[in-house]
Amino acid sequence: MSSFLGPYSLYLHIPFCRHKCGYCDFNTYAGKEDLQPDYVRALCAEITQFAEAAGERLPLHTVFFGGGTPSLLTSQQLEAILSAVSEAFELLPDNEITLEANPGTVDLASLQAMHAMGINRLSMGMQSANPAELRILERQHDFDDVVQAIDWARAVGFENINLDLIFGLPYQSIGDWQRNVELALGLNPEHLSLYNLTIEHGTPMEKQVGRGLLPEPDPDEAAEMYIWTMQHLNAEGWRHYEVSNWARPDDNGEPLACRHNLQYWRNLPYIGLGAGAHGFIGGLRVADVLGPGVYIERCLNGALRKFPRTAATASVNEIGPYTEMQETMMMGLRLLEEGVSSSDFEERFGKQLEDVFAEEIAYLRGLGLLEKHDDRWLLTGKGRMLGNQVFMQFV
Ligand code: SF4
Repeated sequence: MSSFLGPYSLYLHIPFCRHKCGYCDFNTYAGKEDLQPDYVRALCAEITQFAEAAGERLPLHTVFFGGGTPSLLTSQQLEAILSAVSEAFELLPDNEITLEANPGTVDLASLQAMHAMGINRLSMGMQSANPAELRILERQHDFDDVVQAIDWARAVGFENINLDLIFGLPYQSIGDWQRNVELALGLNPEHLSLYNLTIEHGTPMEKQVGRGLLPEPDPDEAAEMYIWTMQHLNAEGWRHYEVSNWARPDDNGEPLACRHNLQYWRNLPYIGLGAGAHGFIGGLRVADVLGPGVYIERCLNGALRKFPRTAATASVNEIGPYTEMQETMMMGLRLLEEGVSSSDFEERFGKQLEDVFAEEIAYLRGLGLLEKHDDRWLLTGKGRMLGNQVFMQFV
């Protein structure tokens, strides 16, 4: 067991989609719906095995159903998973339970059931409001589906909704992007995740770009879209708390951030269960087998293993103190308001951040990408535009 006392975060991977979108390189599969019932049984078994190996009910403050398309599961399936979670873990009262949903895969009844079982945050894959862009992305919904899903979600009581959008698409002009953002804002979400499209290796989209069937996105235009977004959302009172994430302030003026993702960005321990999921716990990085078929087989027939392994664990890597310090910098600097605190770093590692990374800091400061505010190291305005260059220094 780790010396970390928690609370922990739990990621649950649901690797099913109606269609595999051409830009997507996630561990998800279309046309395997027949595996869903067994997969849910296997996931419940893995949750139980994990708790048995831990020998105690670890405290959890966030649960995240990610995918894939978790909203493809039936209400009964989601309920079975959540009940396995509450048996295996101590789900703290002030919890955040997020489910990723795709518009067009939810209805009033399914959203009502989700809310009733304790899911209290929805992350909706909107991506764009523009039919031509949605076609390029091969998304299976239109903007009306998003509007309808949000209406239903509000009607059944969801008070914390994120919308995911992508910018820097082939053929997308800055005006197209601005219209997408305005339409998203019109839906009054609490949170926005706005990602710059990356053409992932091995995806159909990469092949289309390679053959000249789609234009390669222009990074300068994407940078212009990002700058406009920062200025516009700032003027609208949003908090840009992470490189790709914005949140409305709550009643105390704090951004309504995704608490689950904060656990990653703060480089704190989390548990990942489900095909291809990975976790970071007890100083180890653990990853499960990728394929849902083999995952099911292993979870349903496997024996108990040493913590934090389960029957589905495919790899375990020890994270040494120096790597953990590097990852703490790399992830923490993504948090634009919080950054990395020198005193927290020293308390955690027993070393001074400025000593461990003296060279990197001098270099990045010299380039005007990093600065210190009181106790915190933060990206500068220029650093936000060149985040990857900063994060690379800590690899
Ligand atoms: S719906 Fe999401 S997870 Fe599924 S294939 Fe499309 S982008 Fe990937």
